[in-house]
Amino acid sequence: MFQTLSGRAEDSVDAAEGALRPRSFTEFVGQQRVVDNLLTWVEAAKRREAALDHVLLSGPPGLGKTTLAHLLAQALGSPLRITSGPALERAGDLVGLLTGLEHGDVLFVDEIHRLPRAVEEYLYAAMEDLAVDVVIDQGPSARSVRLNVEPFTLVGATTREGLLSQPLRHRFGIVEKLAPYSSEEIEAILTQSSARLGVPLERSAAGALAVRARGIPRVANRLLRRLRDVAQLSEDAQAGIDNAVVLRGLTMLGIDALGLEDMDRRLLEALRRLGGGPAGLGTLAVAVGEEADTLELVYEPHLIRLGFLQRTPRGRMLTDAGLAHLSDGASHDTSPAG
Ligand code: ADP
Repeated sequence: MFQTLSGRAEDSVDAAEGALRPRSFTEFVGQQRVVDNLLTWVEAAKRREAALDHVLLSGPPGLGKTTLAHLLAQALGSPLRITSGPALERAGDLVGLLTGLEHGDVLFVDEIHRLPRAVEEYLYAAMEDLAVDVVIDQGPSARSVRLNVEPFTLVGATTREGLLSQPLRHRFGIVEKLAPYSSEEIEAILTQSSARLGVPLERSAAGALAVRARGIPRVANRLLRRLRDVAQLSEDAQAGIDNAVVLRGLTMLGIDALGLEDMDRRLLEALRRLGGGPAGLGTLAVAVGEEADTLELVYEPHLIRLGFLQRTPRGRMLTDAGLAHLSDGASHDTSPAG
């Protein structure tokens, strides 16, 4: 499988991301209202010497939910225990984790909407009552035992808030939504990341990269890492990332002037082959070989913003502008359009 824009598949990608993760709230660019709110709740909880209320962070992949969980734990001075919805297959996995928590620990559950329903029930009992009831033994000697859970803070992250069950959602005292970043904010992230990587980044090159990052820090950092590679192999490696490197790198990565990459073009092509739509998301996912979720959350928003694709009640439609872009040879031109 090729790497997707959401790009979490490989361990090496995770490690590279970790290296660029903001280490403090001051390094966390943008989302000012969310950050201000979180810092207020953290301060209040610390003054009360109580565990912070449970926090739900929602928004598309790569916007900083995991980063905020790390920063919250750091601000609370507590360790962060990390797991994810799909990893907690059996109730026993979760119960073990919950009963092992210490007072004030922060438990991060990524993709919390993918928690199996049977497991979820244990989670919201623990969130509300600080206890889980487990059944031990089988048959006539089966009995229920109540296990206590220390006061803790659950930080749930979801790309699909709508898929969370109501009982679970209602147990979060703090709910914050992350929105895509402005080009200026993405530029600031690129500048910060290039300093971390030790590679000079020209201002205009940062601007050219920012317009192709779709407002997603993960996409911006991934582009930056690839361009660092291109820069380091160029004749004047000391020069770092300038416009020439951006041009060369984007051509190599198949990213055009509008920020469309191979997968976007394949999606538009698939719609064209289907007579311009309407086509169901599942059909398109099969046609391009990508997960439906990734198409919907990462690729489609950009194509919709550009006016190339429409979501209608009957399915996805290719617009005239989308068709024109496909037919236009210039669509593969990578030169920075500014
Ligand atoms: P999510 O959990 O929402 O998928 P992450 O927190 O893993 O996203 O963020 C992906 C990468 O983007 C992180 O490694 C981090 O370097 C970067 N990043 C995300 N948000 C910000 C931000 N506000 N400022 C700086 N870097 C960020």
